[in-house]
Amino acid sequence: MKINEETVAIVTGGASGLGEATARALASAGAPVAVFDLDDERGVKLAEEIQGLFVKVDVSDTENVRAAVETVFQEAGPPRIAVNCAGIAIAQKTVSKGEPHDMDLFRKVINVNLIGTANVATLAAQKMVEASPLTDDGERGVIINTASVAAFDGQIGQIAYSASKGAVHGMTLPMARDLSRDGVRVVTIAPGLFGTPMLLGMPQEVQDALGAQVPFPSRLGNPAEYGSLVRSIVENSMLNGETIRLDGAIRMAPK
Ligand code: NAD
Repeated sequence: MKINEETVAIVTGGASGLGEATARALASAGAPVAVFDLDDERGVKLAEEIQGLFVKVDVSDTENVRAAVETVFQEAGPPRIAVNCAGIAIAQKTVSKGEPHDMDLFRKVINVNLIGTANVATLAAQKMVEASPLTDDGERGVIINTASVAAFDGQIGQIAYSASKGAVHGMTLPMARDLSRDGVRVVTIAPGLFGTPMLLGMPQEVQDALGAQVPFPSRLGNPAEYGSLVRSIVENSMLNGETIRLDGAIRMAPK
């Protein structure tokens, strides 16, 4: 699908990190971009910069997402690209100091990372399937989700995060199959280690040690490299029902 003024994009978590880089990449390719985020300060600033729209949304709240997608539909037309980048990372062991994992915390991670992704994917897809096709293949839209390498090689303290990301990977093929008759593709990206506020808050030596674990290139990923993959996925109509690792060949060690 070509990116142009008709391919309205929704980017969740668009106020920071991988989402921000995606919003910039899609806007510079010519798409009108709606930034969905809880952070209105950064979100409004970015939306102004890229001449897009900011909508304050909690992705884990279905009615909130429904209203936000409707706002995009009314103001810009049907979304054709929906990129799920909103996510949270917490760390807690299965049993820590004799106490089991806090299940409220576990639910929170599932609610934001998994239910949030499903909310935006299903409500954006509803608008996509009603819209007219844009290509000779009958393509109507693309949904791109963000998992993590933790979906496959989760680290100590990542049971909730890995479960949420494993589920995002698991949804990819059935969602692509569900939407295939309507010409909507679904692709998931599983990033390795990227230099976003999530990681850049760590001491420099920790960042260097993490970067050194990446076989090649031996560094943290640049969020722009994530944005560039999003753009390639939108433009390449044969990519569908697949999770793509974007990780410099890192396979996280057990400890
Ligand atoms: P980030 O913290 O820089 O950005 C996340 C954004 O999501 C923030 O702007 C935050 O306000 C927003 N957000 C959080 N909860 C929300 C909610 N309930 N509703 C709406 N917005 C919400 O993080 P990032 O590093 O850019 O991560 C983006 C995604 O990529 C996440 O899903 C993360 O799990 C995944 N990921 C990141 C890395 C990495 O190395 N940075 C690696 C693998 C996967």
